[in-house]
Amino acid sequence: MPIPRSAVLTAVFLVMVVGLPGVATAREDPVKQLRSAASKARAELEKATGQMEKRKKDLASSQDKLRATLKDLAKAEADLNRIRGPLARLANASYQQPGAAGSMSIFGGGDAGQALRATADVTHLANGQQTLVRQADELQARRQRLTSTAQELQSRNAVEQTKLQQDIDGLKSRSEGLTKELSAMLKKVESDRERRLLAKCDRDGAANAKNFPNGLIPNKYLCPLPQQGEQLRADAAIAFYKLNAAYKRRFSRDMCVTDSYRSLPDQQRVYSQRPGFAAVPGSSNHGKGQALDLCGGIENASSAQFNWLEANSKKYGWFHPAWAYSNPYEPWHWEYGTEG
Ligand SMILES: [Zn+2]
Repeated sequence: MPIPRSAVLTAVFLVMVVGLPGVATAREDPVKQLRSAASKARAELEKATGQMEKRKKDLASSQDKLRATLKDLAKAEADLNRIRGPLARLANASYQQPGAAGSMSIFGGGDAGQALRATADVTHLANGQQTLVRQADELQARRQRLTSTAQELQSRNAVEQTKLQQDIDGLKSRSEGLTKELSAMLKKVESDRERRLLAKCDRDGAANAKNFPNGLIPNKYLCPLPQQGEQLRADAAIAFYKLNAAYKRRFSRDMCVTDSYRSLPDQQRVYSQRPGFAAVPGSSNHGKGQALDLCGGIENASSAQFNWLEANSKKYGWFHPAWAYSNPYEPWHWEYGTEG
């Protein structure tokens, strides 16, 4: 049987409609996607948590209600017990046949008033006696009502307690799942970022850069670092991407960079601010695009960050120059290449 033309058109239309947002999403900024996924996850968890809190509160007040009902029930029982004696005497007096007391066994919880009515003409009872019977009727009814309310509350609360615990466990694992999803998204954003940086960084640029004087390297031979606005000569930058990634695996954050490639005018500015401390313009390794000033703990030589970098930097082609240990003391200053 041939497929009707309208069905084909519908399918084409659906592909267009459904397909388009997907394309748009793929083009969207991945960081923006991550942000929106994170805020969606947060909203979902906040809402669900709010609902759980409300259910917990409802359950607590339902438990309060159960306790109050049980208290009322105990009181009704006590009241009933108090009038059992007088009621039994009245019943015995009204009912002449032997053995009748058994049929109105109020001590077993039966309806004393009803039993009494079955054995005596209520209209012939005295006023006080009638009140007693009515009271017994009311208390019996009340006891029955309270018992069924308590039973209902008890089973409803037990069910809700179990269900709530299950739902809370479910929410916990949902939160765990969302966290995993978002972390995976972040990892992808980061590896995408590193790939993008690497793709933009021409390794051959390093050789060309070396032809230019200190602080006068053309932009195209420098490569951007993951740290906004910072750049290094291509070979130093590529080595730094790996060092930065290793640091991040250890400390869960990018390295903190205060200074990277320094152009001659920039070096001149630093020099004039701190003559005798900063390198003479034209002689700094910052001007070669192969030195970094680091922060985030590394600026302190006794920090875990400094120690880690000292132990690991050489694997990635970076080192802490001997002079920077003391003269001048610059724990934050690191260089690419080999010393000497
Ligand atoms: Zn420096």
